[in-house]
Amino acid sequence: MPISKCLENKLLALGAKRGVEARSFTTFRIGGEVAFFAEPRDSDELKSLLSAAKCCDYPVYVIGNGSNLLVSDEGVDALFIRLGSAMSSYSLDGTHLTCDAGALLCTVAKASVAAGLMGMEWASGIPGTVGGAVAMNAGAYGGEIKQILRSVTCVSSGEIITVPVREGDLAYRHSAFAWPDAVVVLAEFELREDDGNAKMRMDEYNAQRREKQPLEFPSAGSVFKRPVGHFAGALIEQAGLKGKRIGGAMVSPKHAGFIVNCGGASFNDVTELIAFVQDTVYKNSGVMLEPEVKIIG
Ligand SMILES: Cc1cc2nc3c(=O)[nH]c(=O)nc-3n(C[C@H](O)[C@H](O)[C@H](O)COP(=O)(O)OP(=O)(O)OC[C@H]3O[C@@H](n4cnc5c(N)ncnc54)[C@H](O)[C@@H]3O)c2cc1C
Repeated sequence: MPISKCLENKLLALGAKRGVEARSFTTFRIGGEVAFFAEPRDSDELKSLLSAAKCCDYPVYVIGNGSNLLVSDEGVDALFIRLGSAMSSYSLDGTHLTCDAGALLCTVAKASVAAGLMGMEWASGIPGTVGGAVAMNAGAYGGEIKQILRSVTCVSSGEIITVPVREGDLAYRHSAFAWPDAVVVLAEFELREDDGNAKMRMDEYNAQRREKQPLEFPSAGSVFKRPVGHFAGALIEQAGLKGKRIGGAMVSPKHAGFIVNCGGASFNDVTELIAFVQDTVYKNSGVMLEPEVKIIG
């Protein structure tokens, strides 16, 4: 769909850039040009971008650090709005932590531990933003965003609203506060006084990540959701798929739940490998793996 000159001018006036490669803003380092890319500095700029695109029915994707995204090599004719470093303030008041959506989860988790708090030490190795973590209900080592999240400020139907988090708003890798239903702009968390071991736990979790995860390669982390009663990585390993390679994409020999970009992986390499893993695991175990990574294109 050719974009109207009027919308193009509006987006450029709001600071959007034309033709940005998705490989430059995703941790997978894969993906062609997206038509427009903008990083709003505040909620008003965000609202203006959203309403300009909506007026013309132009597609929008709201993203954070791109650590759970796989974008097509063909490029995407859409406006990508990243809530990142331009909206990344956070503050601590007692056990209360308030974060802009673009703050990095690892930064706020480390800051909370340094301030004598616990409740977020599991999050310090997750390479996403607070907004992305709320949208995905990110979790690790028994911790989950929903355990500590108290309220969310988001843009929903063009309005900025602050809502308390209720039971059921978030579930395993699912959240009521996620694009396209809502754009998270700020999140409030309730943490607890450190029991004296928070730093030790955080260091231990990060050491486990370095030991068990292929952090030396670009990836989007675990590609599949954890199926009820199983672990995706174990099912993939049992199916003999560690090291399975299609083009530049490979099931990590270090952690079978990860698909890594060993160099020059294309979107098709990864999607074909995902389908091959799903098919082989299903034949081997009867379990159909569901992708956790968000595929765009
Ligand atoms: C090495 C590695 C390790 C990882 N380990 C873990 C782990 O232990 N646990 C875990 O849960 N995940 C893990 N991940 C996956 C990923 O980091 C998380 O899913 C993270 O929460 C995604 O945040 P992001 O800011 O990168 O979001 P993106 O990848 O940019 O977006 C993810 C989704 O969230 C939506 N979204 C993003 N920001 C907003 C917003 N402000 N408002 C509304 N919707 C939004 C997007 O539309 C998209 O659907 C890992 C990834 C990597 C690369």
